[in-house]
Amino acid sequence: MSTTTPMTASPASTYQQLRTHLATLKLTTAAEQLPAVLDAATTEGLSLTAALERLLALEVDATEARRLAGRLRFASLPSPATIEGFDLDAAAGVDPALIGELATCRYLETATNVLLIGPPGTGKTHLAVGLARKAAEAGYRTYFTTAADLAARCHRAAIEGRWAYTMRFFAGPTLLVIDELGYLPLPAEAASALFQVIAQRYTKTSIILTTNRGVASWGEILGDTTVAAAMLDRLLHRSVVLNLDGDSYRLRDHHARTDTLRRATTGTRRPLT
Ligand code: ADP
Ligand code: MG
Repeated sequence: MSTTTPMTASPASTYQQLRTHLATLKLTTAAEQLPAVLDAATTEGLSLTAALERLLALEVDATEARRLAGRLRFASLPSPATIEGFDLDAAAGVDPALIGELATCRYLETATNVLLIGPPGTGKTHLAVGLARKAAEAGYRTYFTTAADLAARCHRAAIEGRWAYTMRFFAGPTLLVIDELGYLPLPAEAASALFQVIAQRYTKTSIILTTNRGVASWGEILGDTTVAAAMLDRLLHRSVVLNLDGDSYRLRDHHARTDTLRRATTGTRRPLT
């Protein structure tokens, strides 16, 4: 029988062991907050369960904040714009109820796309950034890019033999924002890259696309009416369309509307055969 080893550890060494356990498990916030929570447990007379809950809740909060920061960093939002900071009174024809509905992120569950159409300065990018922020906050993997940047990256990827990897990258996020379609005409190769990105996300994940050009002139932007029509089919199949110019209206599985738009698109050039 040893007299130097106590049968039970002293409170001080148990405390040290607990800190070591927390550190080994990388529960750094819980490790840091342990003294404060133990003090509170004594002064407030917390039960063991309540004290443990308080300690782990602090760790969970810190983990969630870290994950959110990571999602927002990945999202690459170009501005601090928020939905709350969007002045609905200043936006002609925007239905406040529709913005409220989009802010719930429910459209992401049905892989619904959002098209924001209107002239420069009407708040398209602001809304797209605000909705992307909501999505990231709600836990969805979100990525913001512009049509020009997406096209440039696909072009480089093709040259450098990373096409499949880049396509997988753009297929990954639950929400992909493609800003500013139509500001620059896209070369055929860029239009085809954009089409592939849209096609592989079709019915699986959502796109928010902003454009200053009505769908009737997409044939011109894309330099090809067939690609424009195919792209519109997929984008509009399940979609919400906001016209920041005038009326906001909604399309959901609205094939008749899509047909009209397709005819309008192809009508600017040779009809489809
Ligand atoms: P667009 O992308 O349609 O060209 P932006 O979203 O970039 O327009 O808007 C231009 C500027 O005006 C931005 O700073 C944006 O925050 C602001 N803005 C536009 N519309 C609104 C609005 N309804 N409420 C608040 N800010 C707005
Ligand atoms: Mg913009």
